[in-house]
Amino acid sequence: MDQIECVVIGAGVVGLAVARALAARGREVIVLEAAEAIGTSTSSRNSEVIHAGLYYPRGSLKATLCVRGREMLYEYCASRNVTHARCGKLLVATAANQIPQLEAIRARGKENGVFDLTRISGSEALALEPALECVAAVYSPQTGIVDSHQLMLALQGDAERDGAVIALKSPVESIDALGSGFTVRTGGDAPIDIRAACVVNSAGLYATKLAKRIRGLDARHVPPFYLARGNYFSVSGRVPFSRLIYPMPNDAGLGVHLTLDLGGQARFGPDVEWIDALDYDVDPRRADSFYAQIRTYWPALPDGALQPAYAGIRPKLSGPGEPAADFMIQGAASHGVRGLVNLFGIESPGLTASLAIAQRVCEMASFD
Ligand SMILES: Cc1cc2nc3c(=O)[nH]c(=O)nc-3n(C[C@H](O)[C@H](O)[C@H](O)COP(=O)(O)OP(=O)(O)OC[C@H]3O[C@@H](n4cnc5c(N)ncnc54)[C@H](O)[C@@H]3O)c2cc1C
Repeated sequence: MDQIECVVIGAGVVGLAVARALAARGREVIVLEAAEAIGTSTSSRNSEVIHAGLYYPRGSLKATLCVRGREMLYEYCASRNVTHARCGKLLVATAANQIPQLEAIRARGKENGVFDLTRISGSEALALEPALECVAAVYSPQTGIVDSHQLMLALQGDAERDGAVIALKSPVESIDALGSGFTVRTGGDAPIDIRAACVVNSAGLYATKLAKRIRGLDARHVPPFYLARGNYFSVSGRVPFSRLIYPMPNDAGLGVHLTLDLGGQARFGPDVEWIDALDYDVDPRRADSFYAQIRTYWPALPDGALQPAYAGIRPKLSGPGEPAADFMIQGAASHGVRGLVNLFGIESPGLTASLAIAQRVCEMASFD
């Protein structure tokens, strides 16, 4: 049986960041990834926004890891030539009754350590983005965009340089944590058993399902889990905006916003659609609600401009109508299994926070 210090399950942006951080600290690491390539799940189906850290409750993991992770990510992208842009974003109130919410988000951002938010009037916003319609806005200069695939390739490269191995087509089927250490069993073409001192469950949408298959982990430590699809629509041609535009957030998401990719192409989304099973098809009929939401801040959006683009699925720990749950990063102090770290509910801002999550996992992991 193969023996290694640490098994990381999942080669999304978080698993790769964890593998890089562990390998940089001299740990022996293997990343077991079910798919044929890295980053084919949520990490390549998102808005690619580097969030400033405005929305999340003070002291929450989402707030602290987003703010720390954002700075780490900008530094990392600059040092590894990962394409990114600190393009800024406007959070807009499109009616006077949204101004208290706008102010509350600015105050929350400040509590989270985002000190450079500027409140501007509707006409000042219009001077920045002439196609925009709003009554007031908050400008966030630290918000940006990143090429998530380049980021993952850079993380993989660093991890491999420091000795980590990325094993593709290696779905983990079960984990035995009954003795000391772990036996991790993979399926796929070449099933193997691996002995490890440390296991990081970074399986994204499958993290709770996998945790239920860990013999030795009490099932009451596995939280309830919900799926919320976020659909995107693209626009043909150029849009008349150079910054990201976000409406007021709603119960389950940040609202149908305008993001730009690094080639300057626009996409709108994600909306929130609660689903029961993984399915990435975008229903073209959702366009009607997109037109209505986008026209609250871009009234000149032409008829027929939107096309269904792609969807991502949020691994959510709170269901419809419930307050948004925080990330759950669970080590032995909470579940009692030495050497096991479970990452549950790593939805947005998980891309932004990935390097800070990895740092935290390294602090929690144990290897004997
Ligand atoms: C619609 C949407 C928009 C978002 N927008 C943003 C944004 O703009 N900015 C931001 O900061 N964050 C954003 N996020 C969040 C961000 O995309 C995620 O937090 C991040 O990608 C999670 O990465 P991960 O590595 O945890 O999960 P994943 O990318 O899902 O990776 C998990 C990996 O585990 C593998 N796996 C699963 N089961 C097994 C198994 N049994 N054995 C081996 N491998 C397994 C999967 O194949 C997958 O590759 C968004 C998310 C969504 C859904």
